[in-house]
Amino acid sequence: MNRLKIKGKIQFEIEKAMEEILELKSITAPISPENSVGRISRMDAINNKSVTEAALSTKQVKLRKLKEALNNVDNPGFGICTSCHKPIPVGRLLLMPEADKCVSCAS
Ligand SMILES: [Zn+2]
Repeated sequence: MNRLKIKGKIQFEIEKAMEEILELKSITAPISPENSVGRISRMDAINNKSVTEAALSTKQVKLRKLKEALNNVDNPGFGICTSCHKPIPVGRLLLMPEADKCVSCAS
């Protein structure tokens, strides 16, 4: 397994996730009443806000997992499915470095 390649990918994904979190955080800033054009658009803004907040929490979980993966990448157990203890294919790790299960155990 090419750990260096996977490590680089994890670092790249962490940077990307952090940027996306910052962006989402700027969108979820409190909605000020003076910004609303009317009642409908304010309702829209509130709806969008909850969608954005859901996306934000998903990203934060992903970021946490990526950081764990980065800590674990040098451990012998990295890339081993936590469920069936078989190696996770490198292709999957490169696509989803935060994965700790193989495709069949994750589904
Ligand atoms: Zn498995």
